[in-house]
Amino acid sequence: MRLPYFQHHTPKSLNAALKLLEKIDGRGIIMAGGTELLNRMRLRLVEPEHIISLSMIRGLGNISVNKNKEIDIGATAMLNYVAHFFEKVKPYKAIHEAAIQVASHQIRNMATIGGNILQDTRCMFYNRSRQWQKTVPPCHKRGGNICHAVKNSRRCFAVYQGDMAPVLIALKAVAVFYTSESTHEIPVEDIFSMDGKRPITVEGNRILASIRIPSPEEGLFSTYKKYRIRDGVDFPLAGVAIAIKREKDIIADLRICLTGVASRPFIIKDMGHVFYGKTLSPQLMEEIAHLAFENAHPVDNLEDSSKKRRLMVRQMVFDALLEADTCH
Ligand SMILES: Cc1cc2nc3c(=O)[nH]c(=O)nc-3n(C[C@H](O)[C@H](O)[C@H](O)COP(=O)(O)OP(=O)(O)OC[C@H]3O[C@@H](n4cnc5c(N)ncnc54)[C@H](O)[C@@H]3O)c2cc1C
Ligand code: SF4
Repeated sequence: MRLPYFQHHTPKSLNAALKLLEKIDGRGIIMAGGTELLNRMRLRLVEPEHIISLSMIRGLGNISVNKNKEIDIGATAMLNYVAHFFEKVKPYKAIHEAAIQVASHQIRNMATIGGNILQDTRCMFYNRSRQWQKTVPPCHKRGGNICHAVKNSRRCFAVYQGDMAPVLIALKAVAVFYTSESTHEIPVEDIFSMDGKRPITVEGNRILASIRIPSPEEGLFSTYKKYRIRDGVDFPLAGVAIAIKREKDIIADLRICLTGVASRPFIIKDMGHVFYGKTLSPQLMEEIAHLAFENAHPVDNLEDSSKKRRLMVRQMVFDALLEADTCH
């Protein structure tokens, strides 16, 4: 499938990119690695007149540790680099595990962490060729007023299938956005709406510059489990990110974030409070896994059934907690 016509810009600084974005207000789009955006353009799901590439901005893909021991990941850091960097940062093992499981090795050499977080939602009735789309009436996400997945629904259930955001949310990461006037620091979990049509809340002429991870806490363990049919290329049909902090054997904090089961990375609320002070026994693991299962409400709009994806959430949460216990 051929790409539509567009003008390609390669600014050399973040400032120049922001100025350009303002100048072409609403007619252009940011591109990092292009591995998600260009596919949507081929399907004619988005047809920007201008593409502003971040690839020539030096330093935007660096990873560094600041004086507070927080880790700053530049938005254009390639996923293979991210995976490699976090392989040795033990409490943040989940970042390595999520990054290394995105797509294929070749794609991870182009794909960036920023593009991964800000990718669009997906649906098997939406991510289709223009030819296919012509044969059915347009759904909510294509400007119509029906949904092919959930009959009579007034909203879109397209699925957020990014691998990195759930992990970053579980680890309380903050996203740093720049506009030409100011800088905004927003918890990664607040970037997302629950609207499948418009999943990203941060709008306007802004660029994601970096993601900041808090300094690793003692007793913290994190892991990411992914369910997909074909290892090596597939998006998650369900994914589970867990961050658990224990003092001796007692739970001091617990955060669980799901992907592939809703229109946003879905954080299960209040787990830290509910399970604070408890010991991680097999019964408790079952209880937490069941709570995650009850919070996951996928619909039948991906390649596997919603029932199976929900059951996989329960299994993966249990497996992750078992691993946390073994590694403690
Ligand atoms: C075969 C295949 C398999 C894939 N499998 C997976 C998978 O398993 N898991 C997964 O999560 N993804 C998967 N992807 C999707 C994609 O490759 C990744 O999500 C990748 O990390 C996107 O990064 P990118 O730099 O290429 O983003 P781009 O395509 O450049 O951009 C994606 C979106 O983010 C916006 N954007 C990018 N950077 C910025 C920024 N700094 N500031 C503001 N906006 C920005 C763009 O405007 C665009 O809307 C797959 C893609 C393919 C083709
Ligand atoms: S969930 Fe429904 S409205 Fe949303 S993209 Fe799929 S078919 Fe369209």
